[in-house]
Amino acid sequence: MIITPVTPHLNTFLIITLSKKMDGDTSNIKSLKFQMIVKLCLGCKFKSNFFDWCDACKLKHFKLNYDKSPSGNNEIDNRLKYYYSKSGLSEEFIEWISYEEFKDITHNVVNKETYSALWSKGCICDWNKDKFNWNRKIKKVALVNFEYNIIDFYRVLKEKEQYKLYGISKDPTSHSYILVFDDEVYNQNLCVKCQILSNFFYWCKSCKLNHFQLNYGEFPSGNDEIDNILKDHYYDFISPKELIEWIPYNEFRDIVLTADNKEIYNALWSKGCIYDWDEDKLSWIREVKKVTLVNFKCSINDFNIMVSYNLQYFLKLHLL
Ligand SMILES: [Zn+2]
Ligand SMILES: [Zn+2]
Repeated sequence: MIITPVTPHLNTFLIITLSKKMDGDTSNIKSLKFQMIVKLCLGCKFKSNFFDWCDACKLKHFKLNYDKSPSGNNEIDNRLKYYYSKSGLSEEFIEWISYEEFKDITHNVVNKETYSALWSKGCICDWNKDKFNWNRKIKKVALVNFEYNIIDFYRVLKEKEQYKLYGISKDPTSHSYILVFDDEVYNQNLCVKCQILSNFFYWCKSCKLNHFQLNYGEFPSGNDEIDNILKDHYYDFISPKELIEWIPYNEFRDIVLTADNKEIYNALWSKGCIYDWDEDKLSWIREVKKVTLVNFKCSINDFNIMVSYNLQYFLKLHLL
């Protein structure tokens, strides 16, 4: 496919796509079609930058790219057109994204309404004055299906600046509308409801467990019972002081056996204990700590009793 440079001609711009088939004769052009014709008003035809155009010309470009009514829903179409004509920066755009543009769709195990996918066409980066269209970049995206939750759909759309929202799509099977977010920004795997709650303690159970998984892995201890205790704690505790967590052994430095009891060691915990939640970074604030490690090798019952007493960080437990 060859895209010719744009030829300004009166107030019409053409982009011509030539499709070549390499069946022996390389010069054999099988088809020639006019891909894009944007008729700009007199005021806009001298302005090569999309953002300098008038609203009417921007909407003509919208129609060429997405069709007159891409979503099939008046309210959604109107919002898409509004953002297309009123956005002053490419980052502010949200656009209609055809579902076929998503590849490698994988469903989230915990939250069935969320999928991740590769957006093959990619997000808009900036305006290409030569090609007369957007420069794009392939992106990993998070898709959130709003089948049962159309009120939240419109609320998130309204507050789109808070999220990195690329656009709207439609699931061809359920016919429900989908919001398309940047996967990296969505990396905490938070549900849409929890995304606006920056405090960990207000999150729902499934978001807390996602955060657990991100921090410690799905089965950190390799022991079902202990993993369940850790997970239960992670969504039950209501202040940082209450938390017990999984600590990989390599986070301990300067391990010293106490003289009188070989089951008790002292160490420096390099990653440190949790003492608060950082609402900007959405992660824990920590402090390097001296800790005492108690080895329960011969006494798994005592271990369970200690855990049920909910010991605080100064007595961290680790099975050896
Ligand atoms: Zn115009
Ligand atoms: Zn949630």
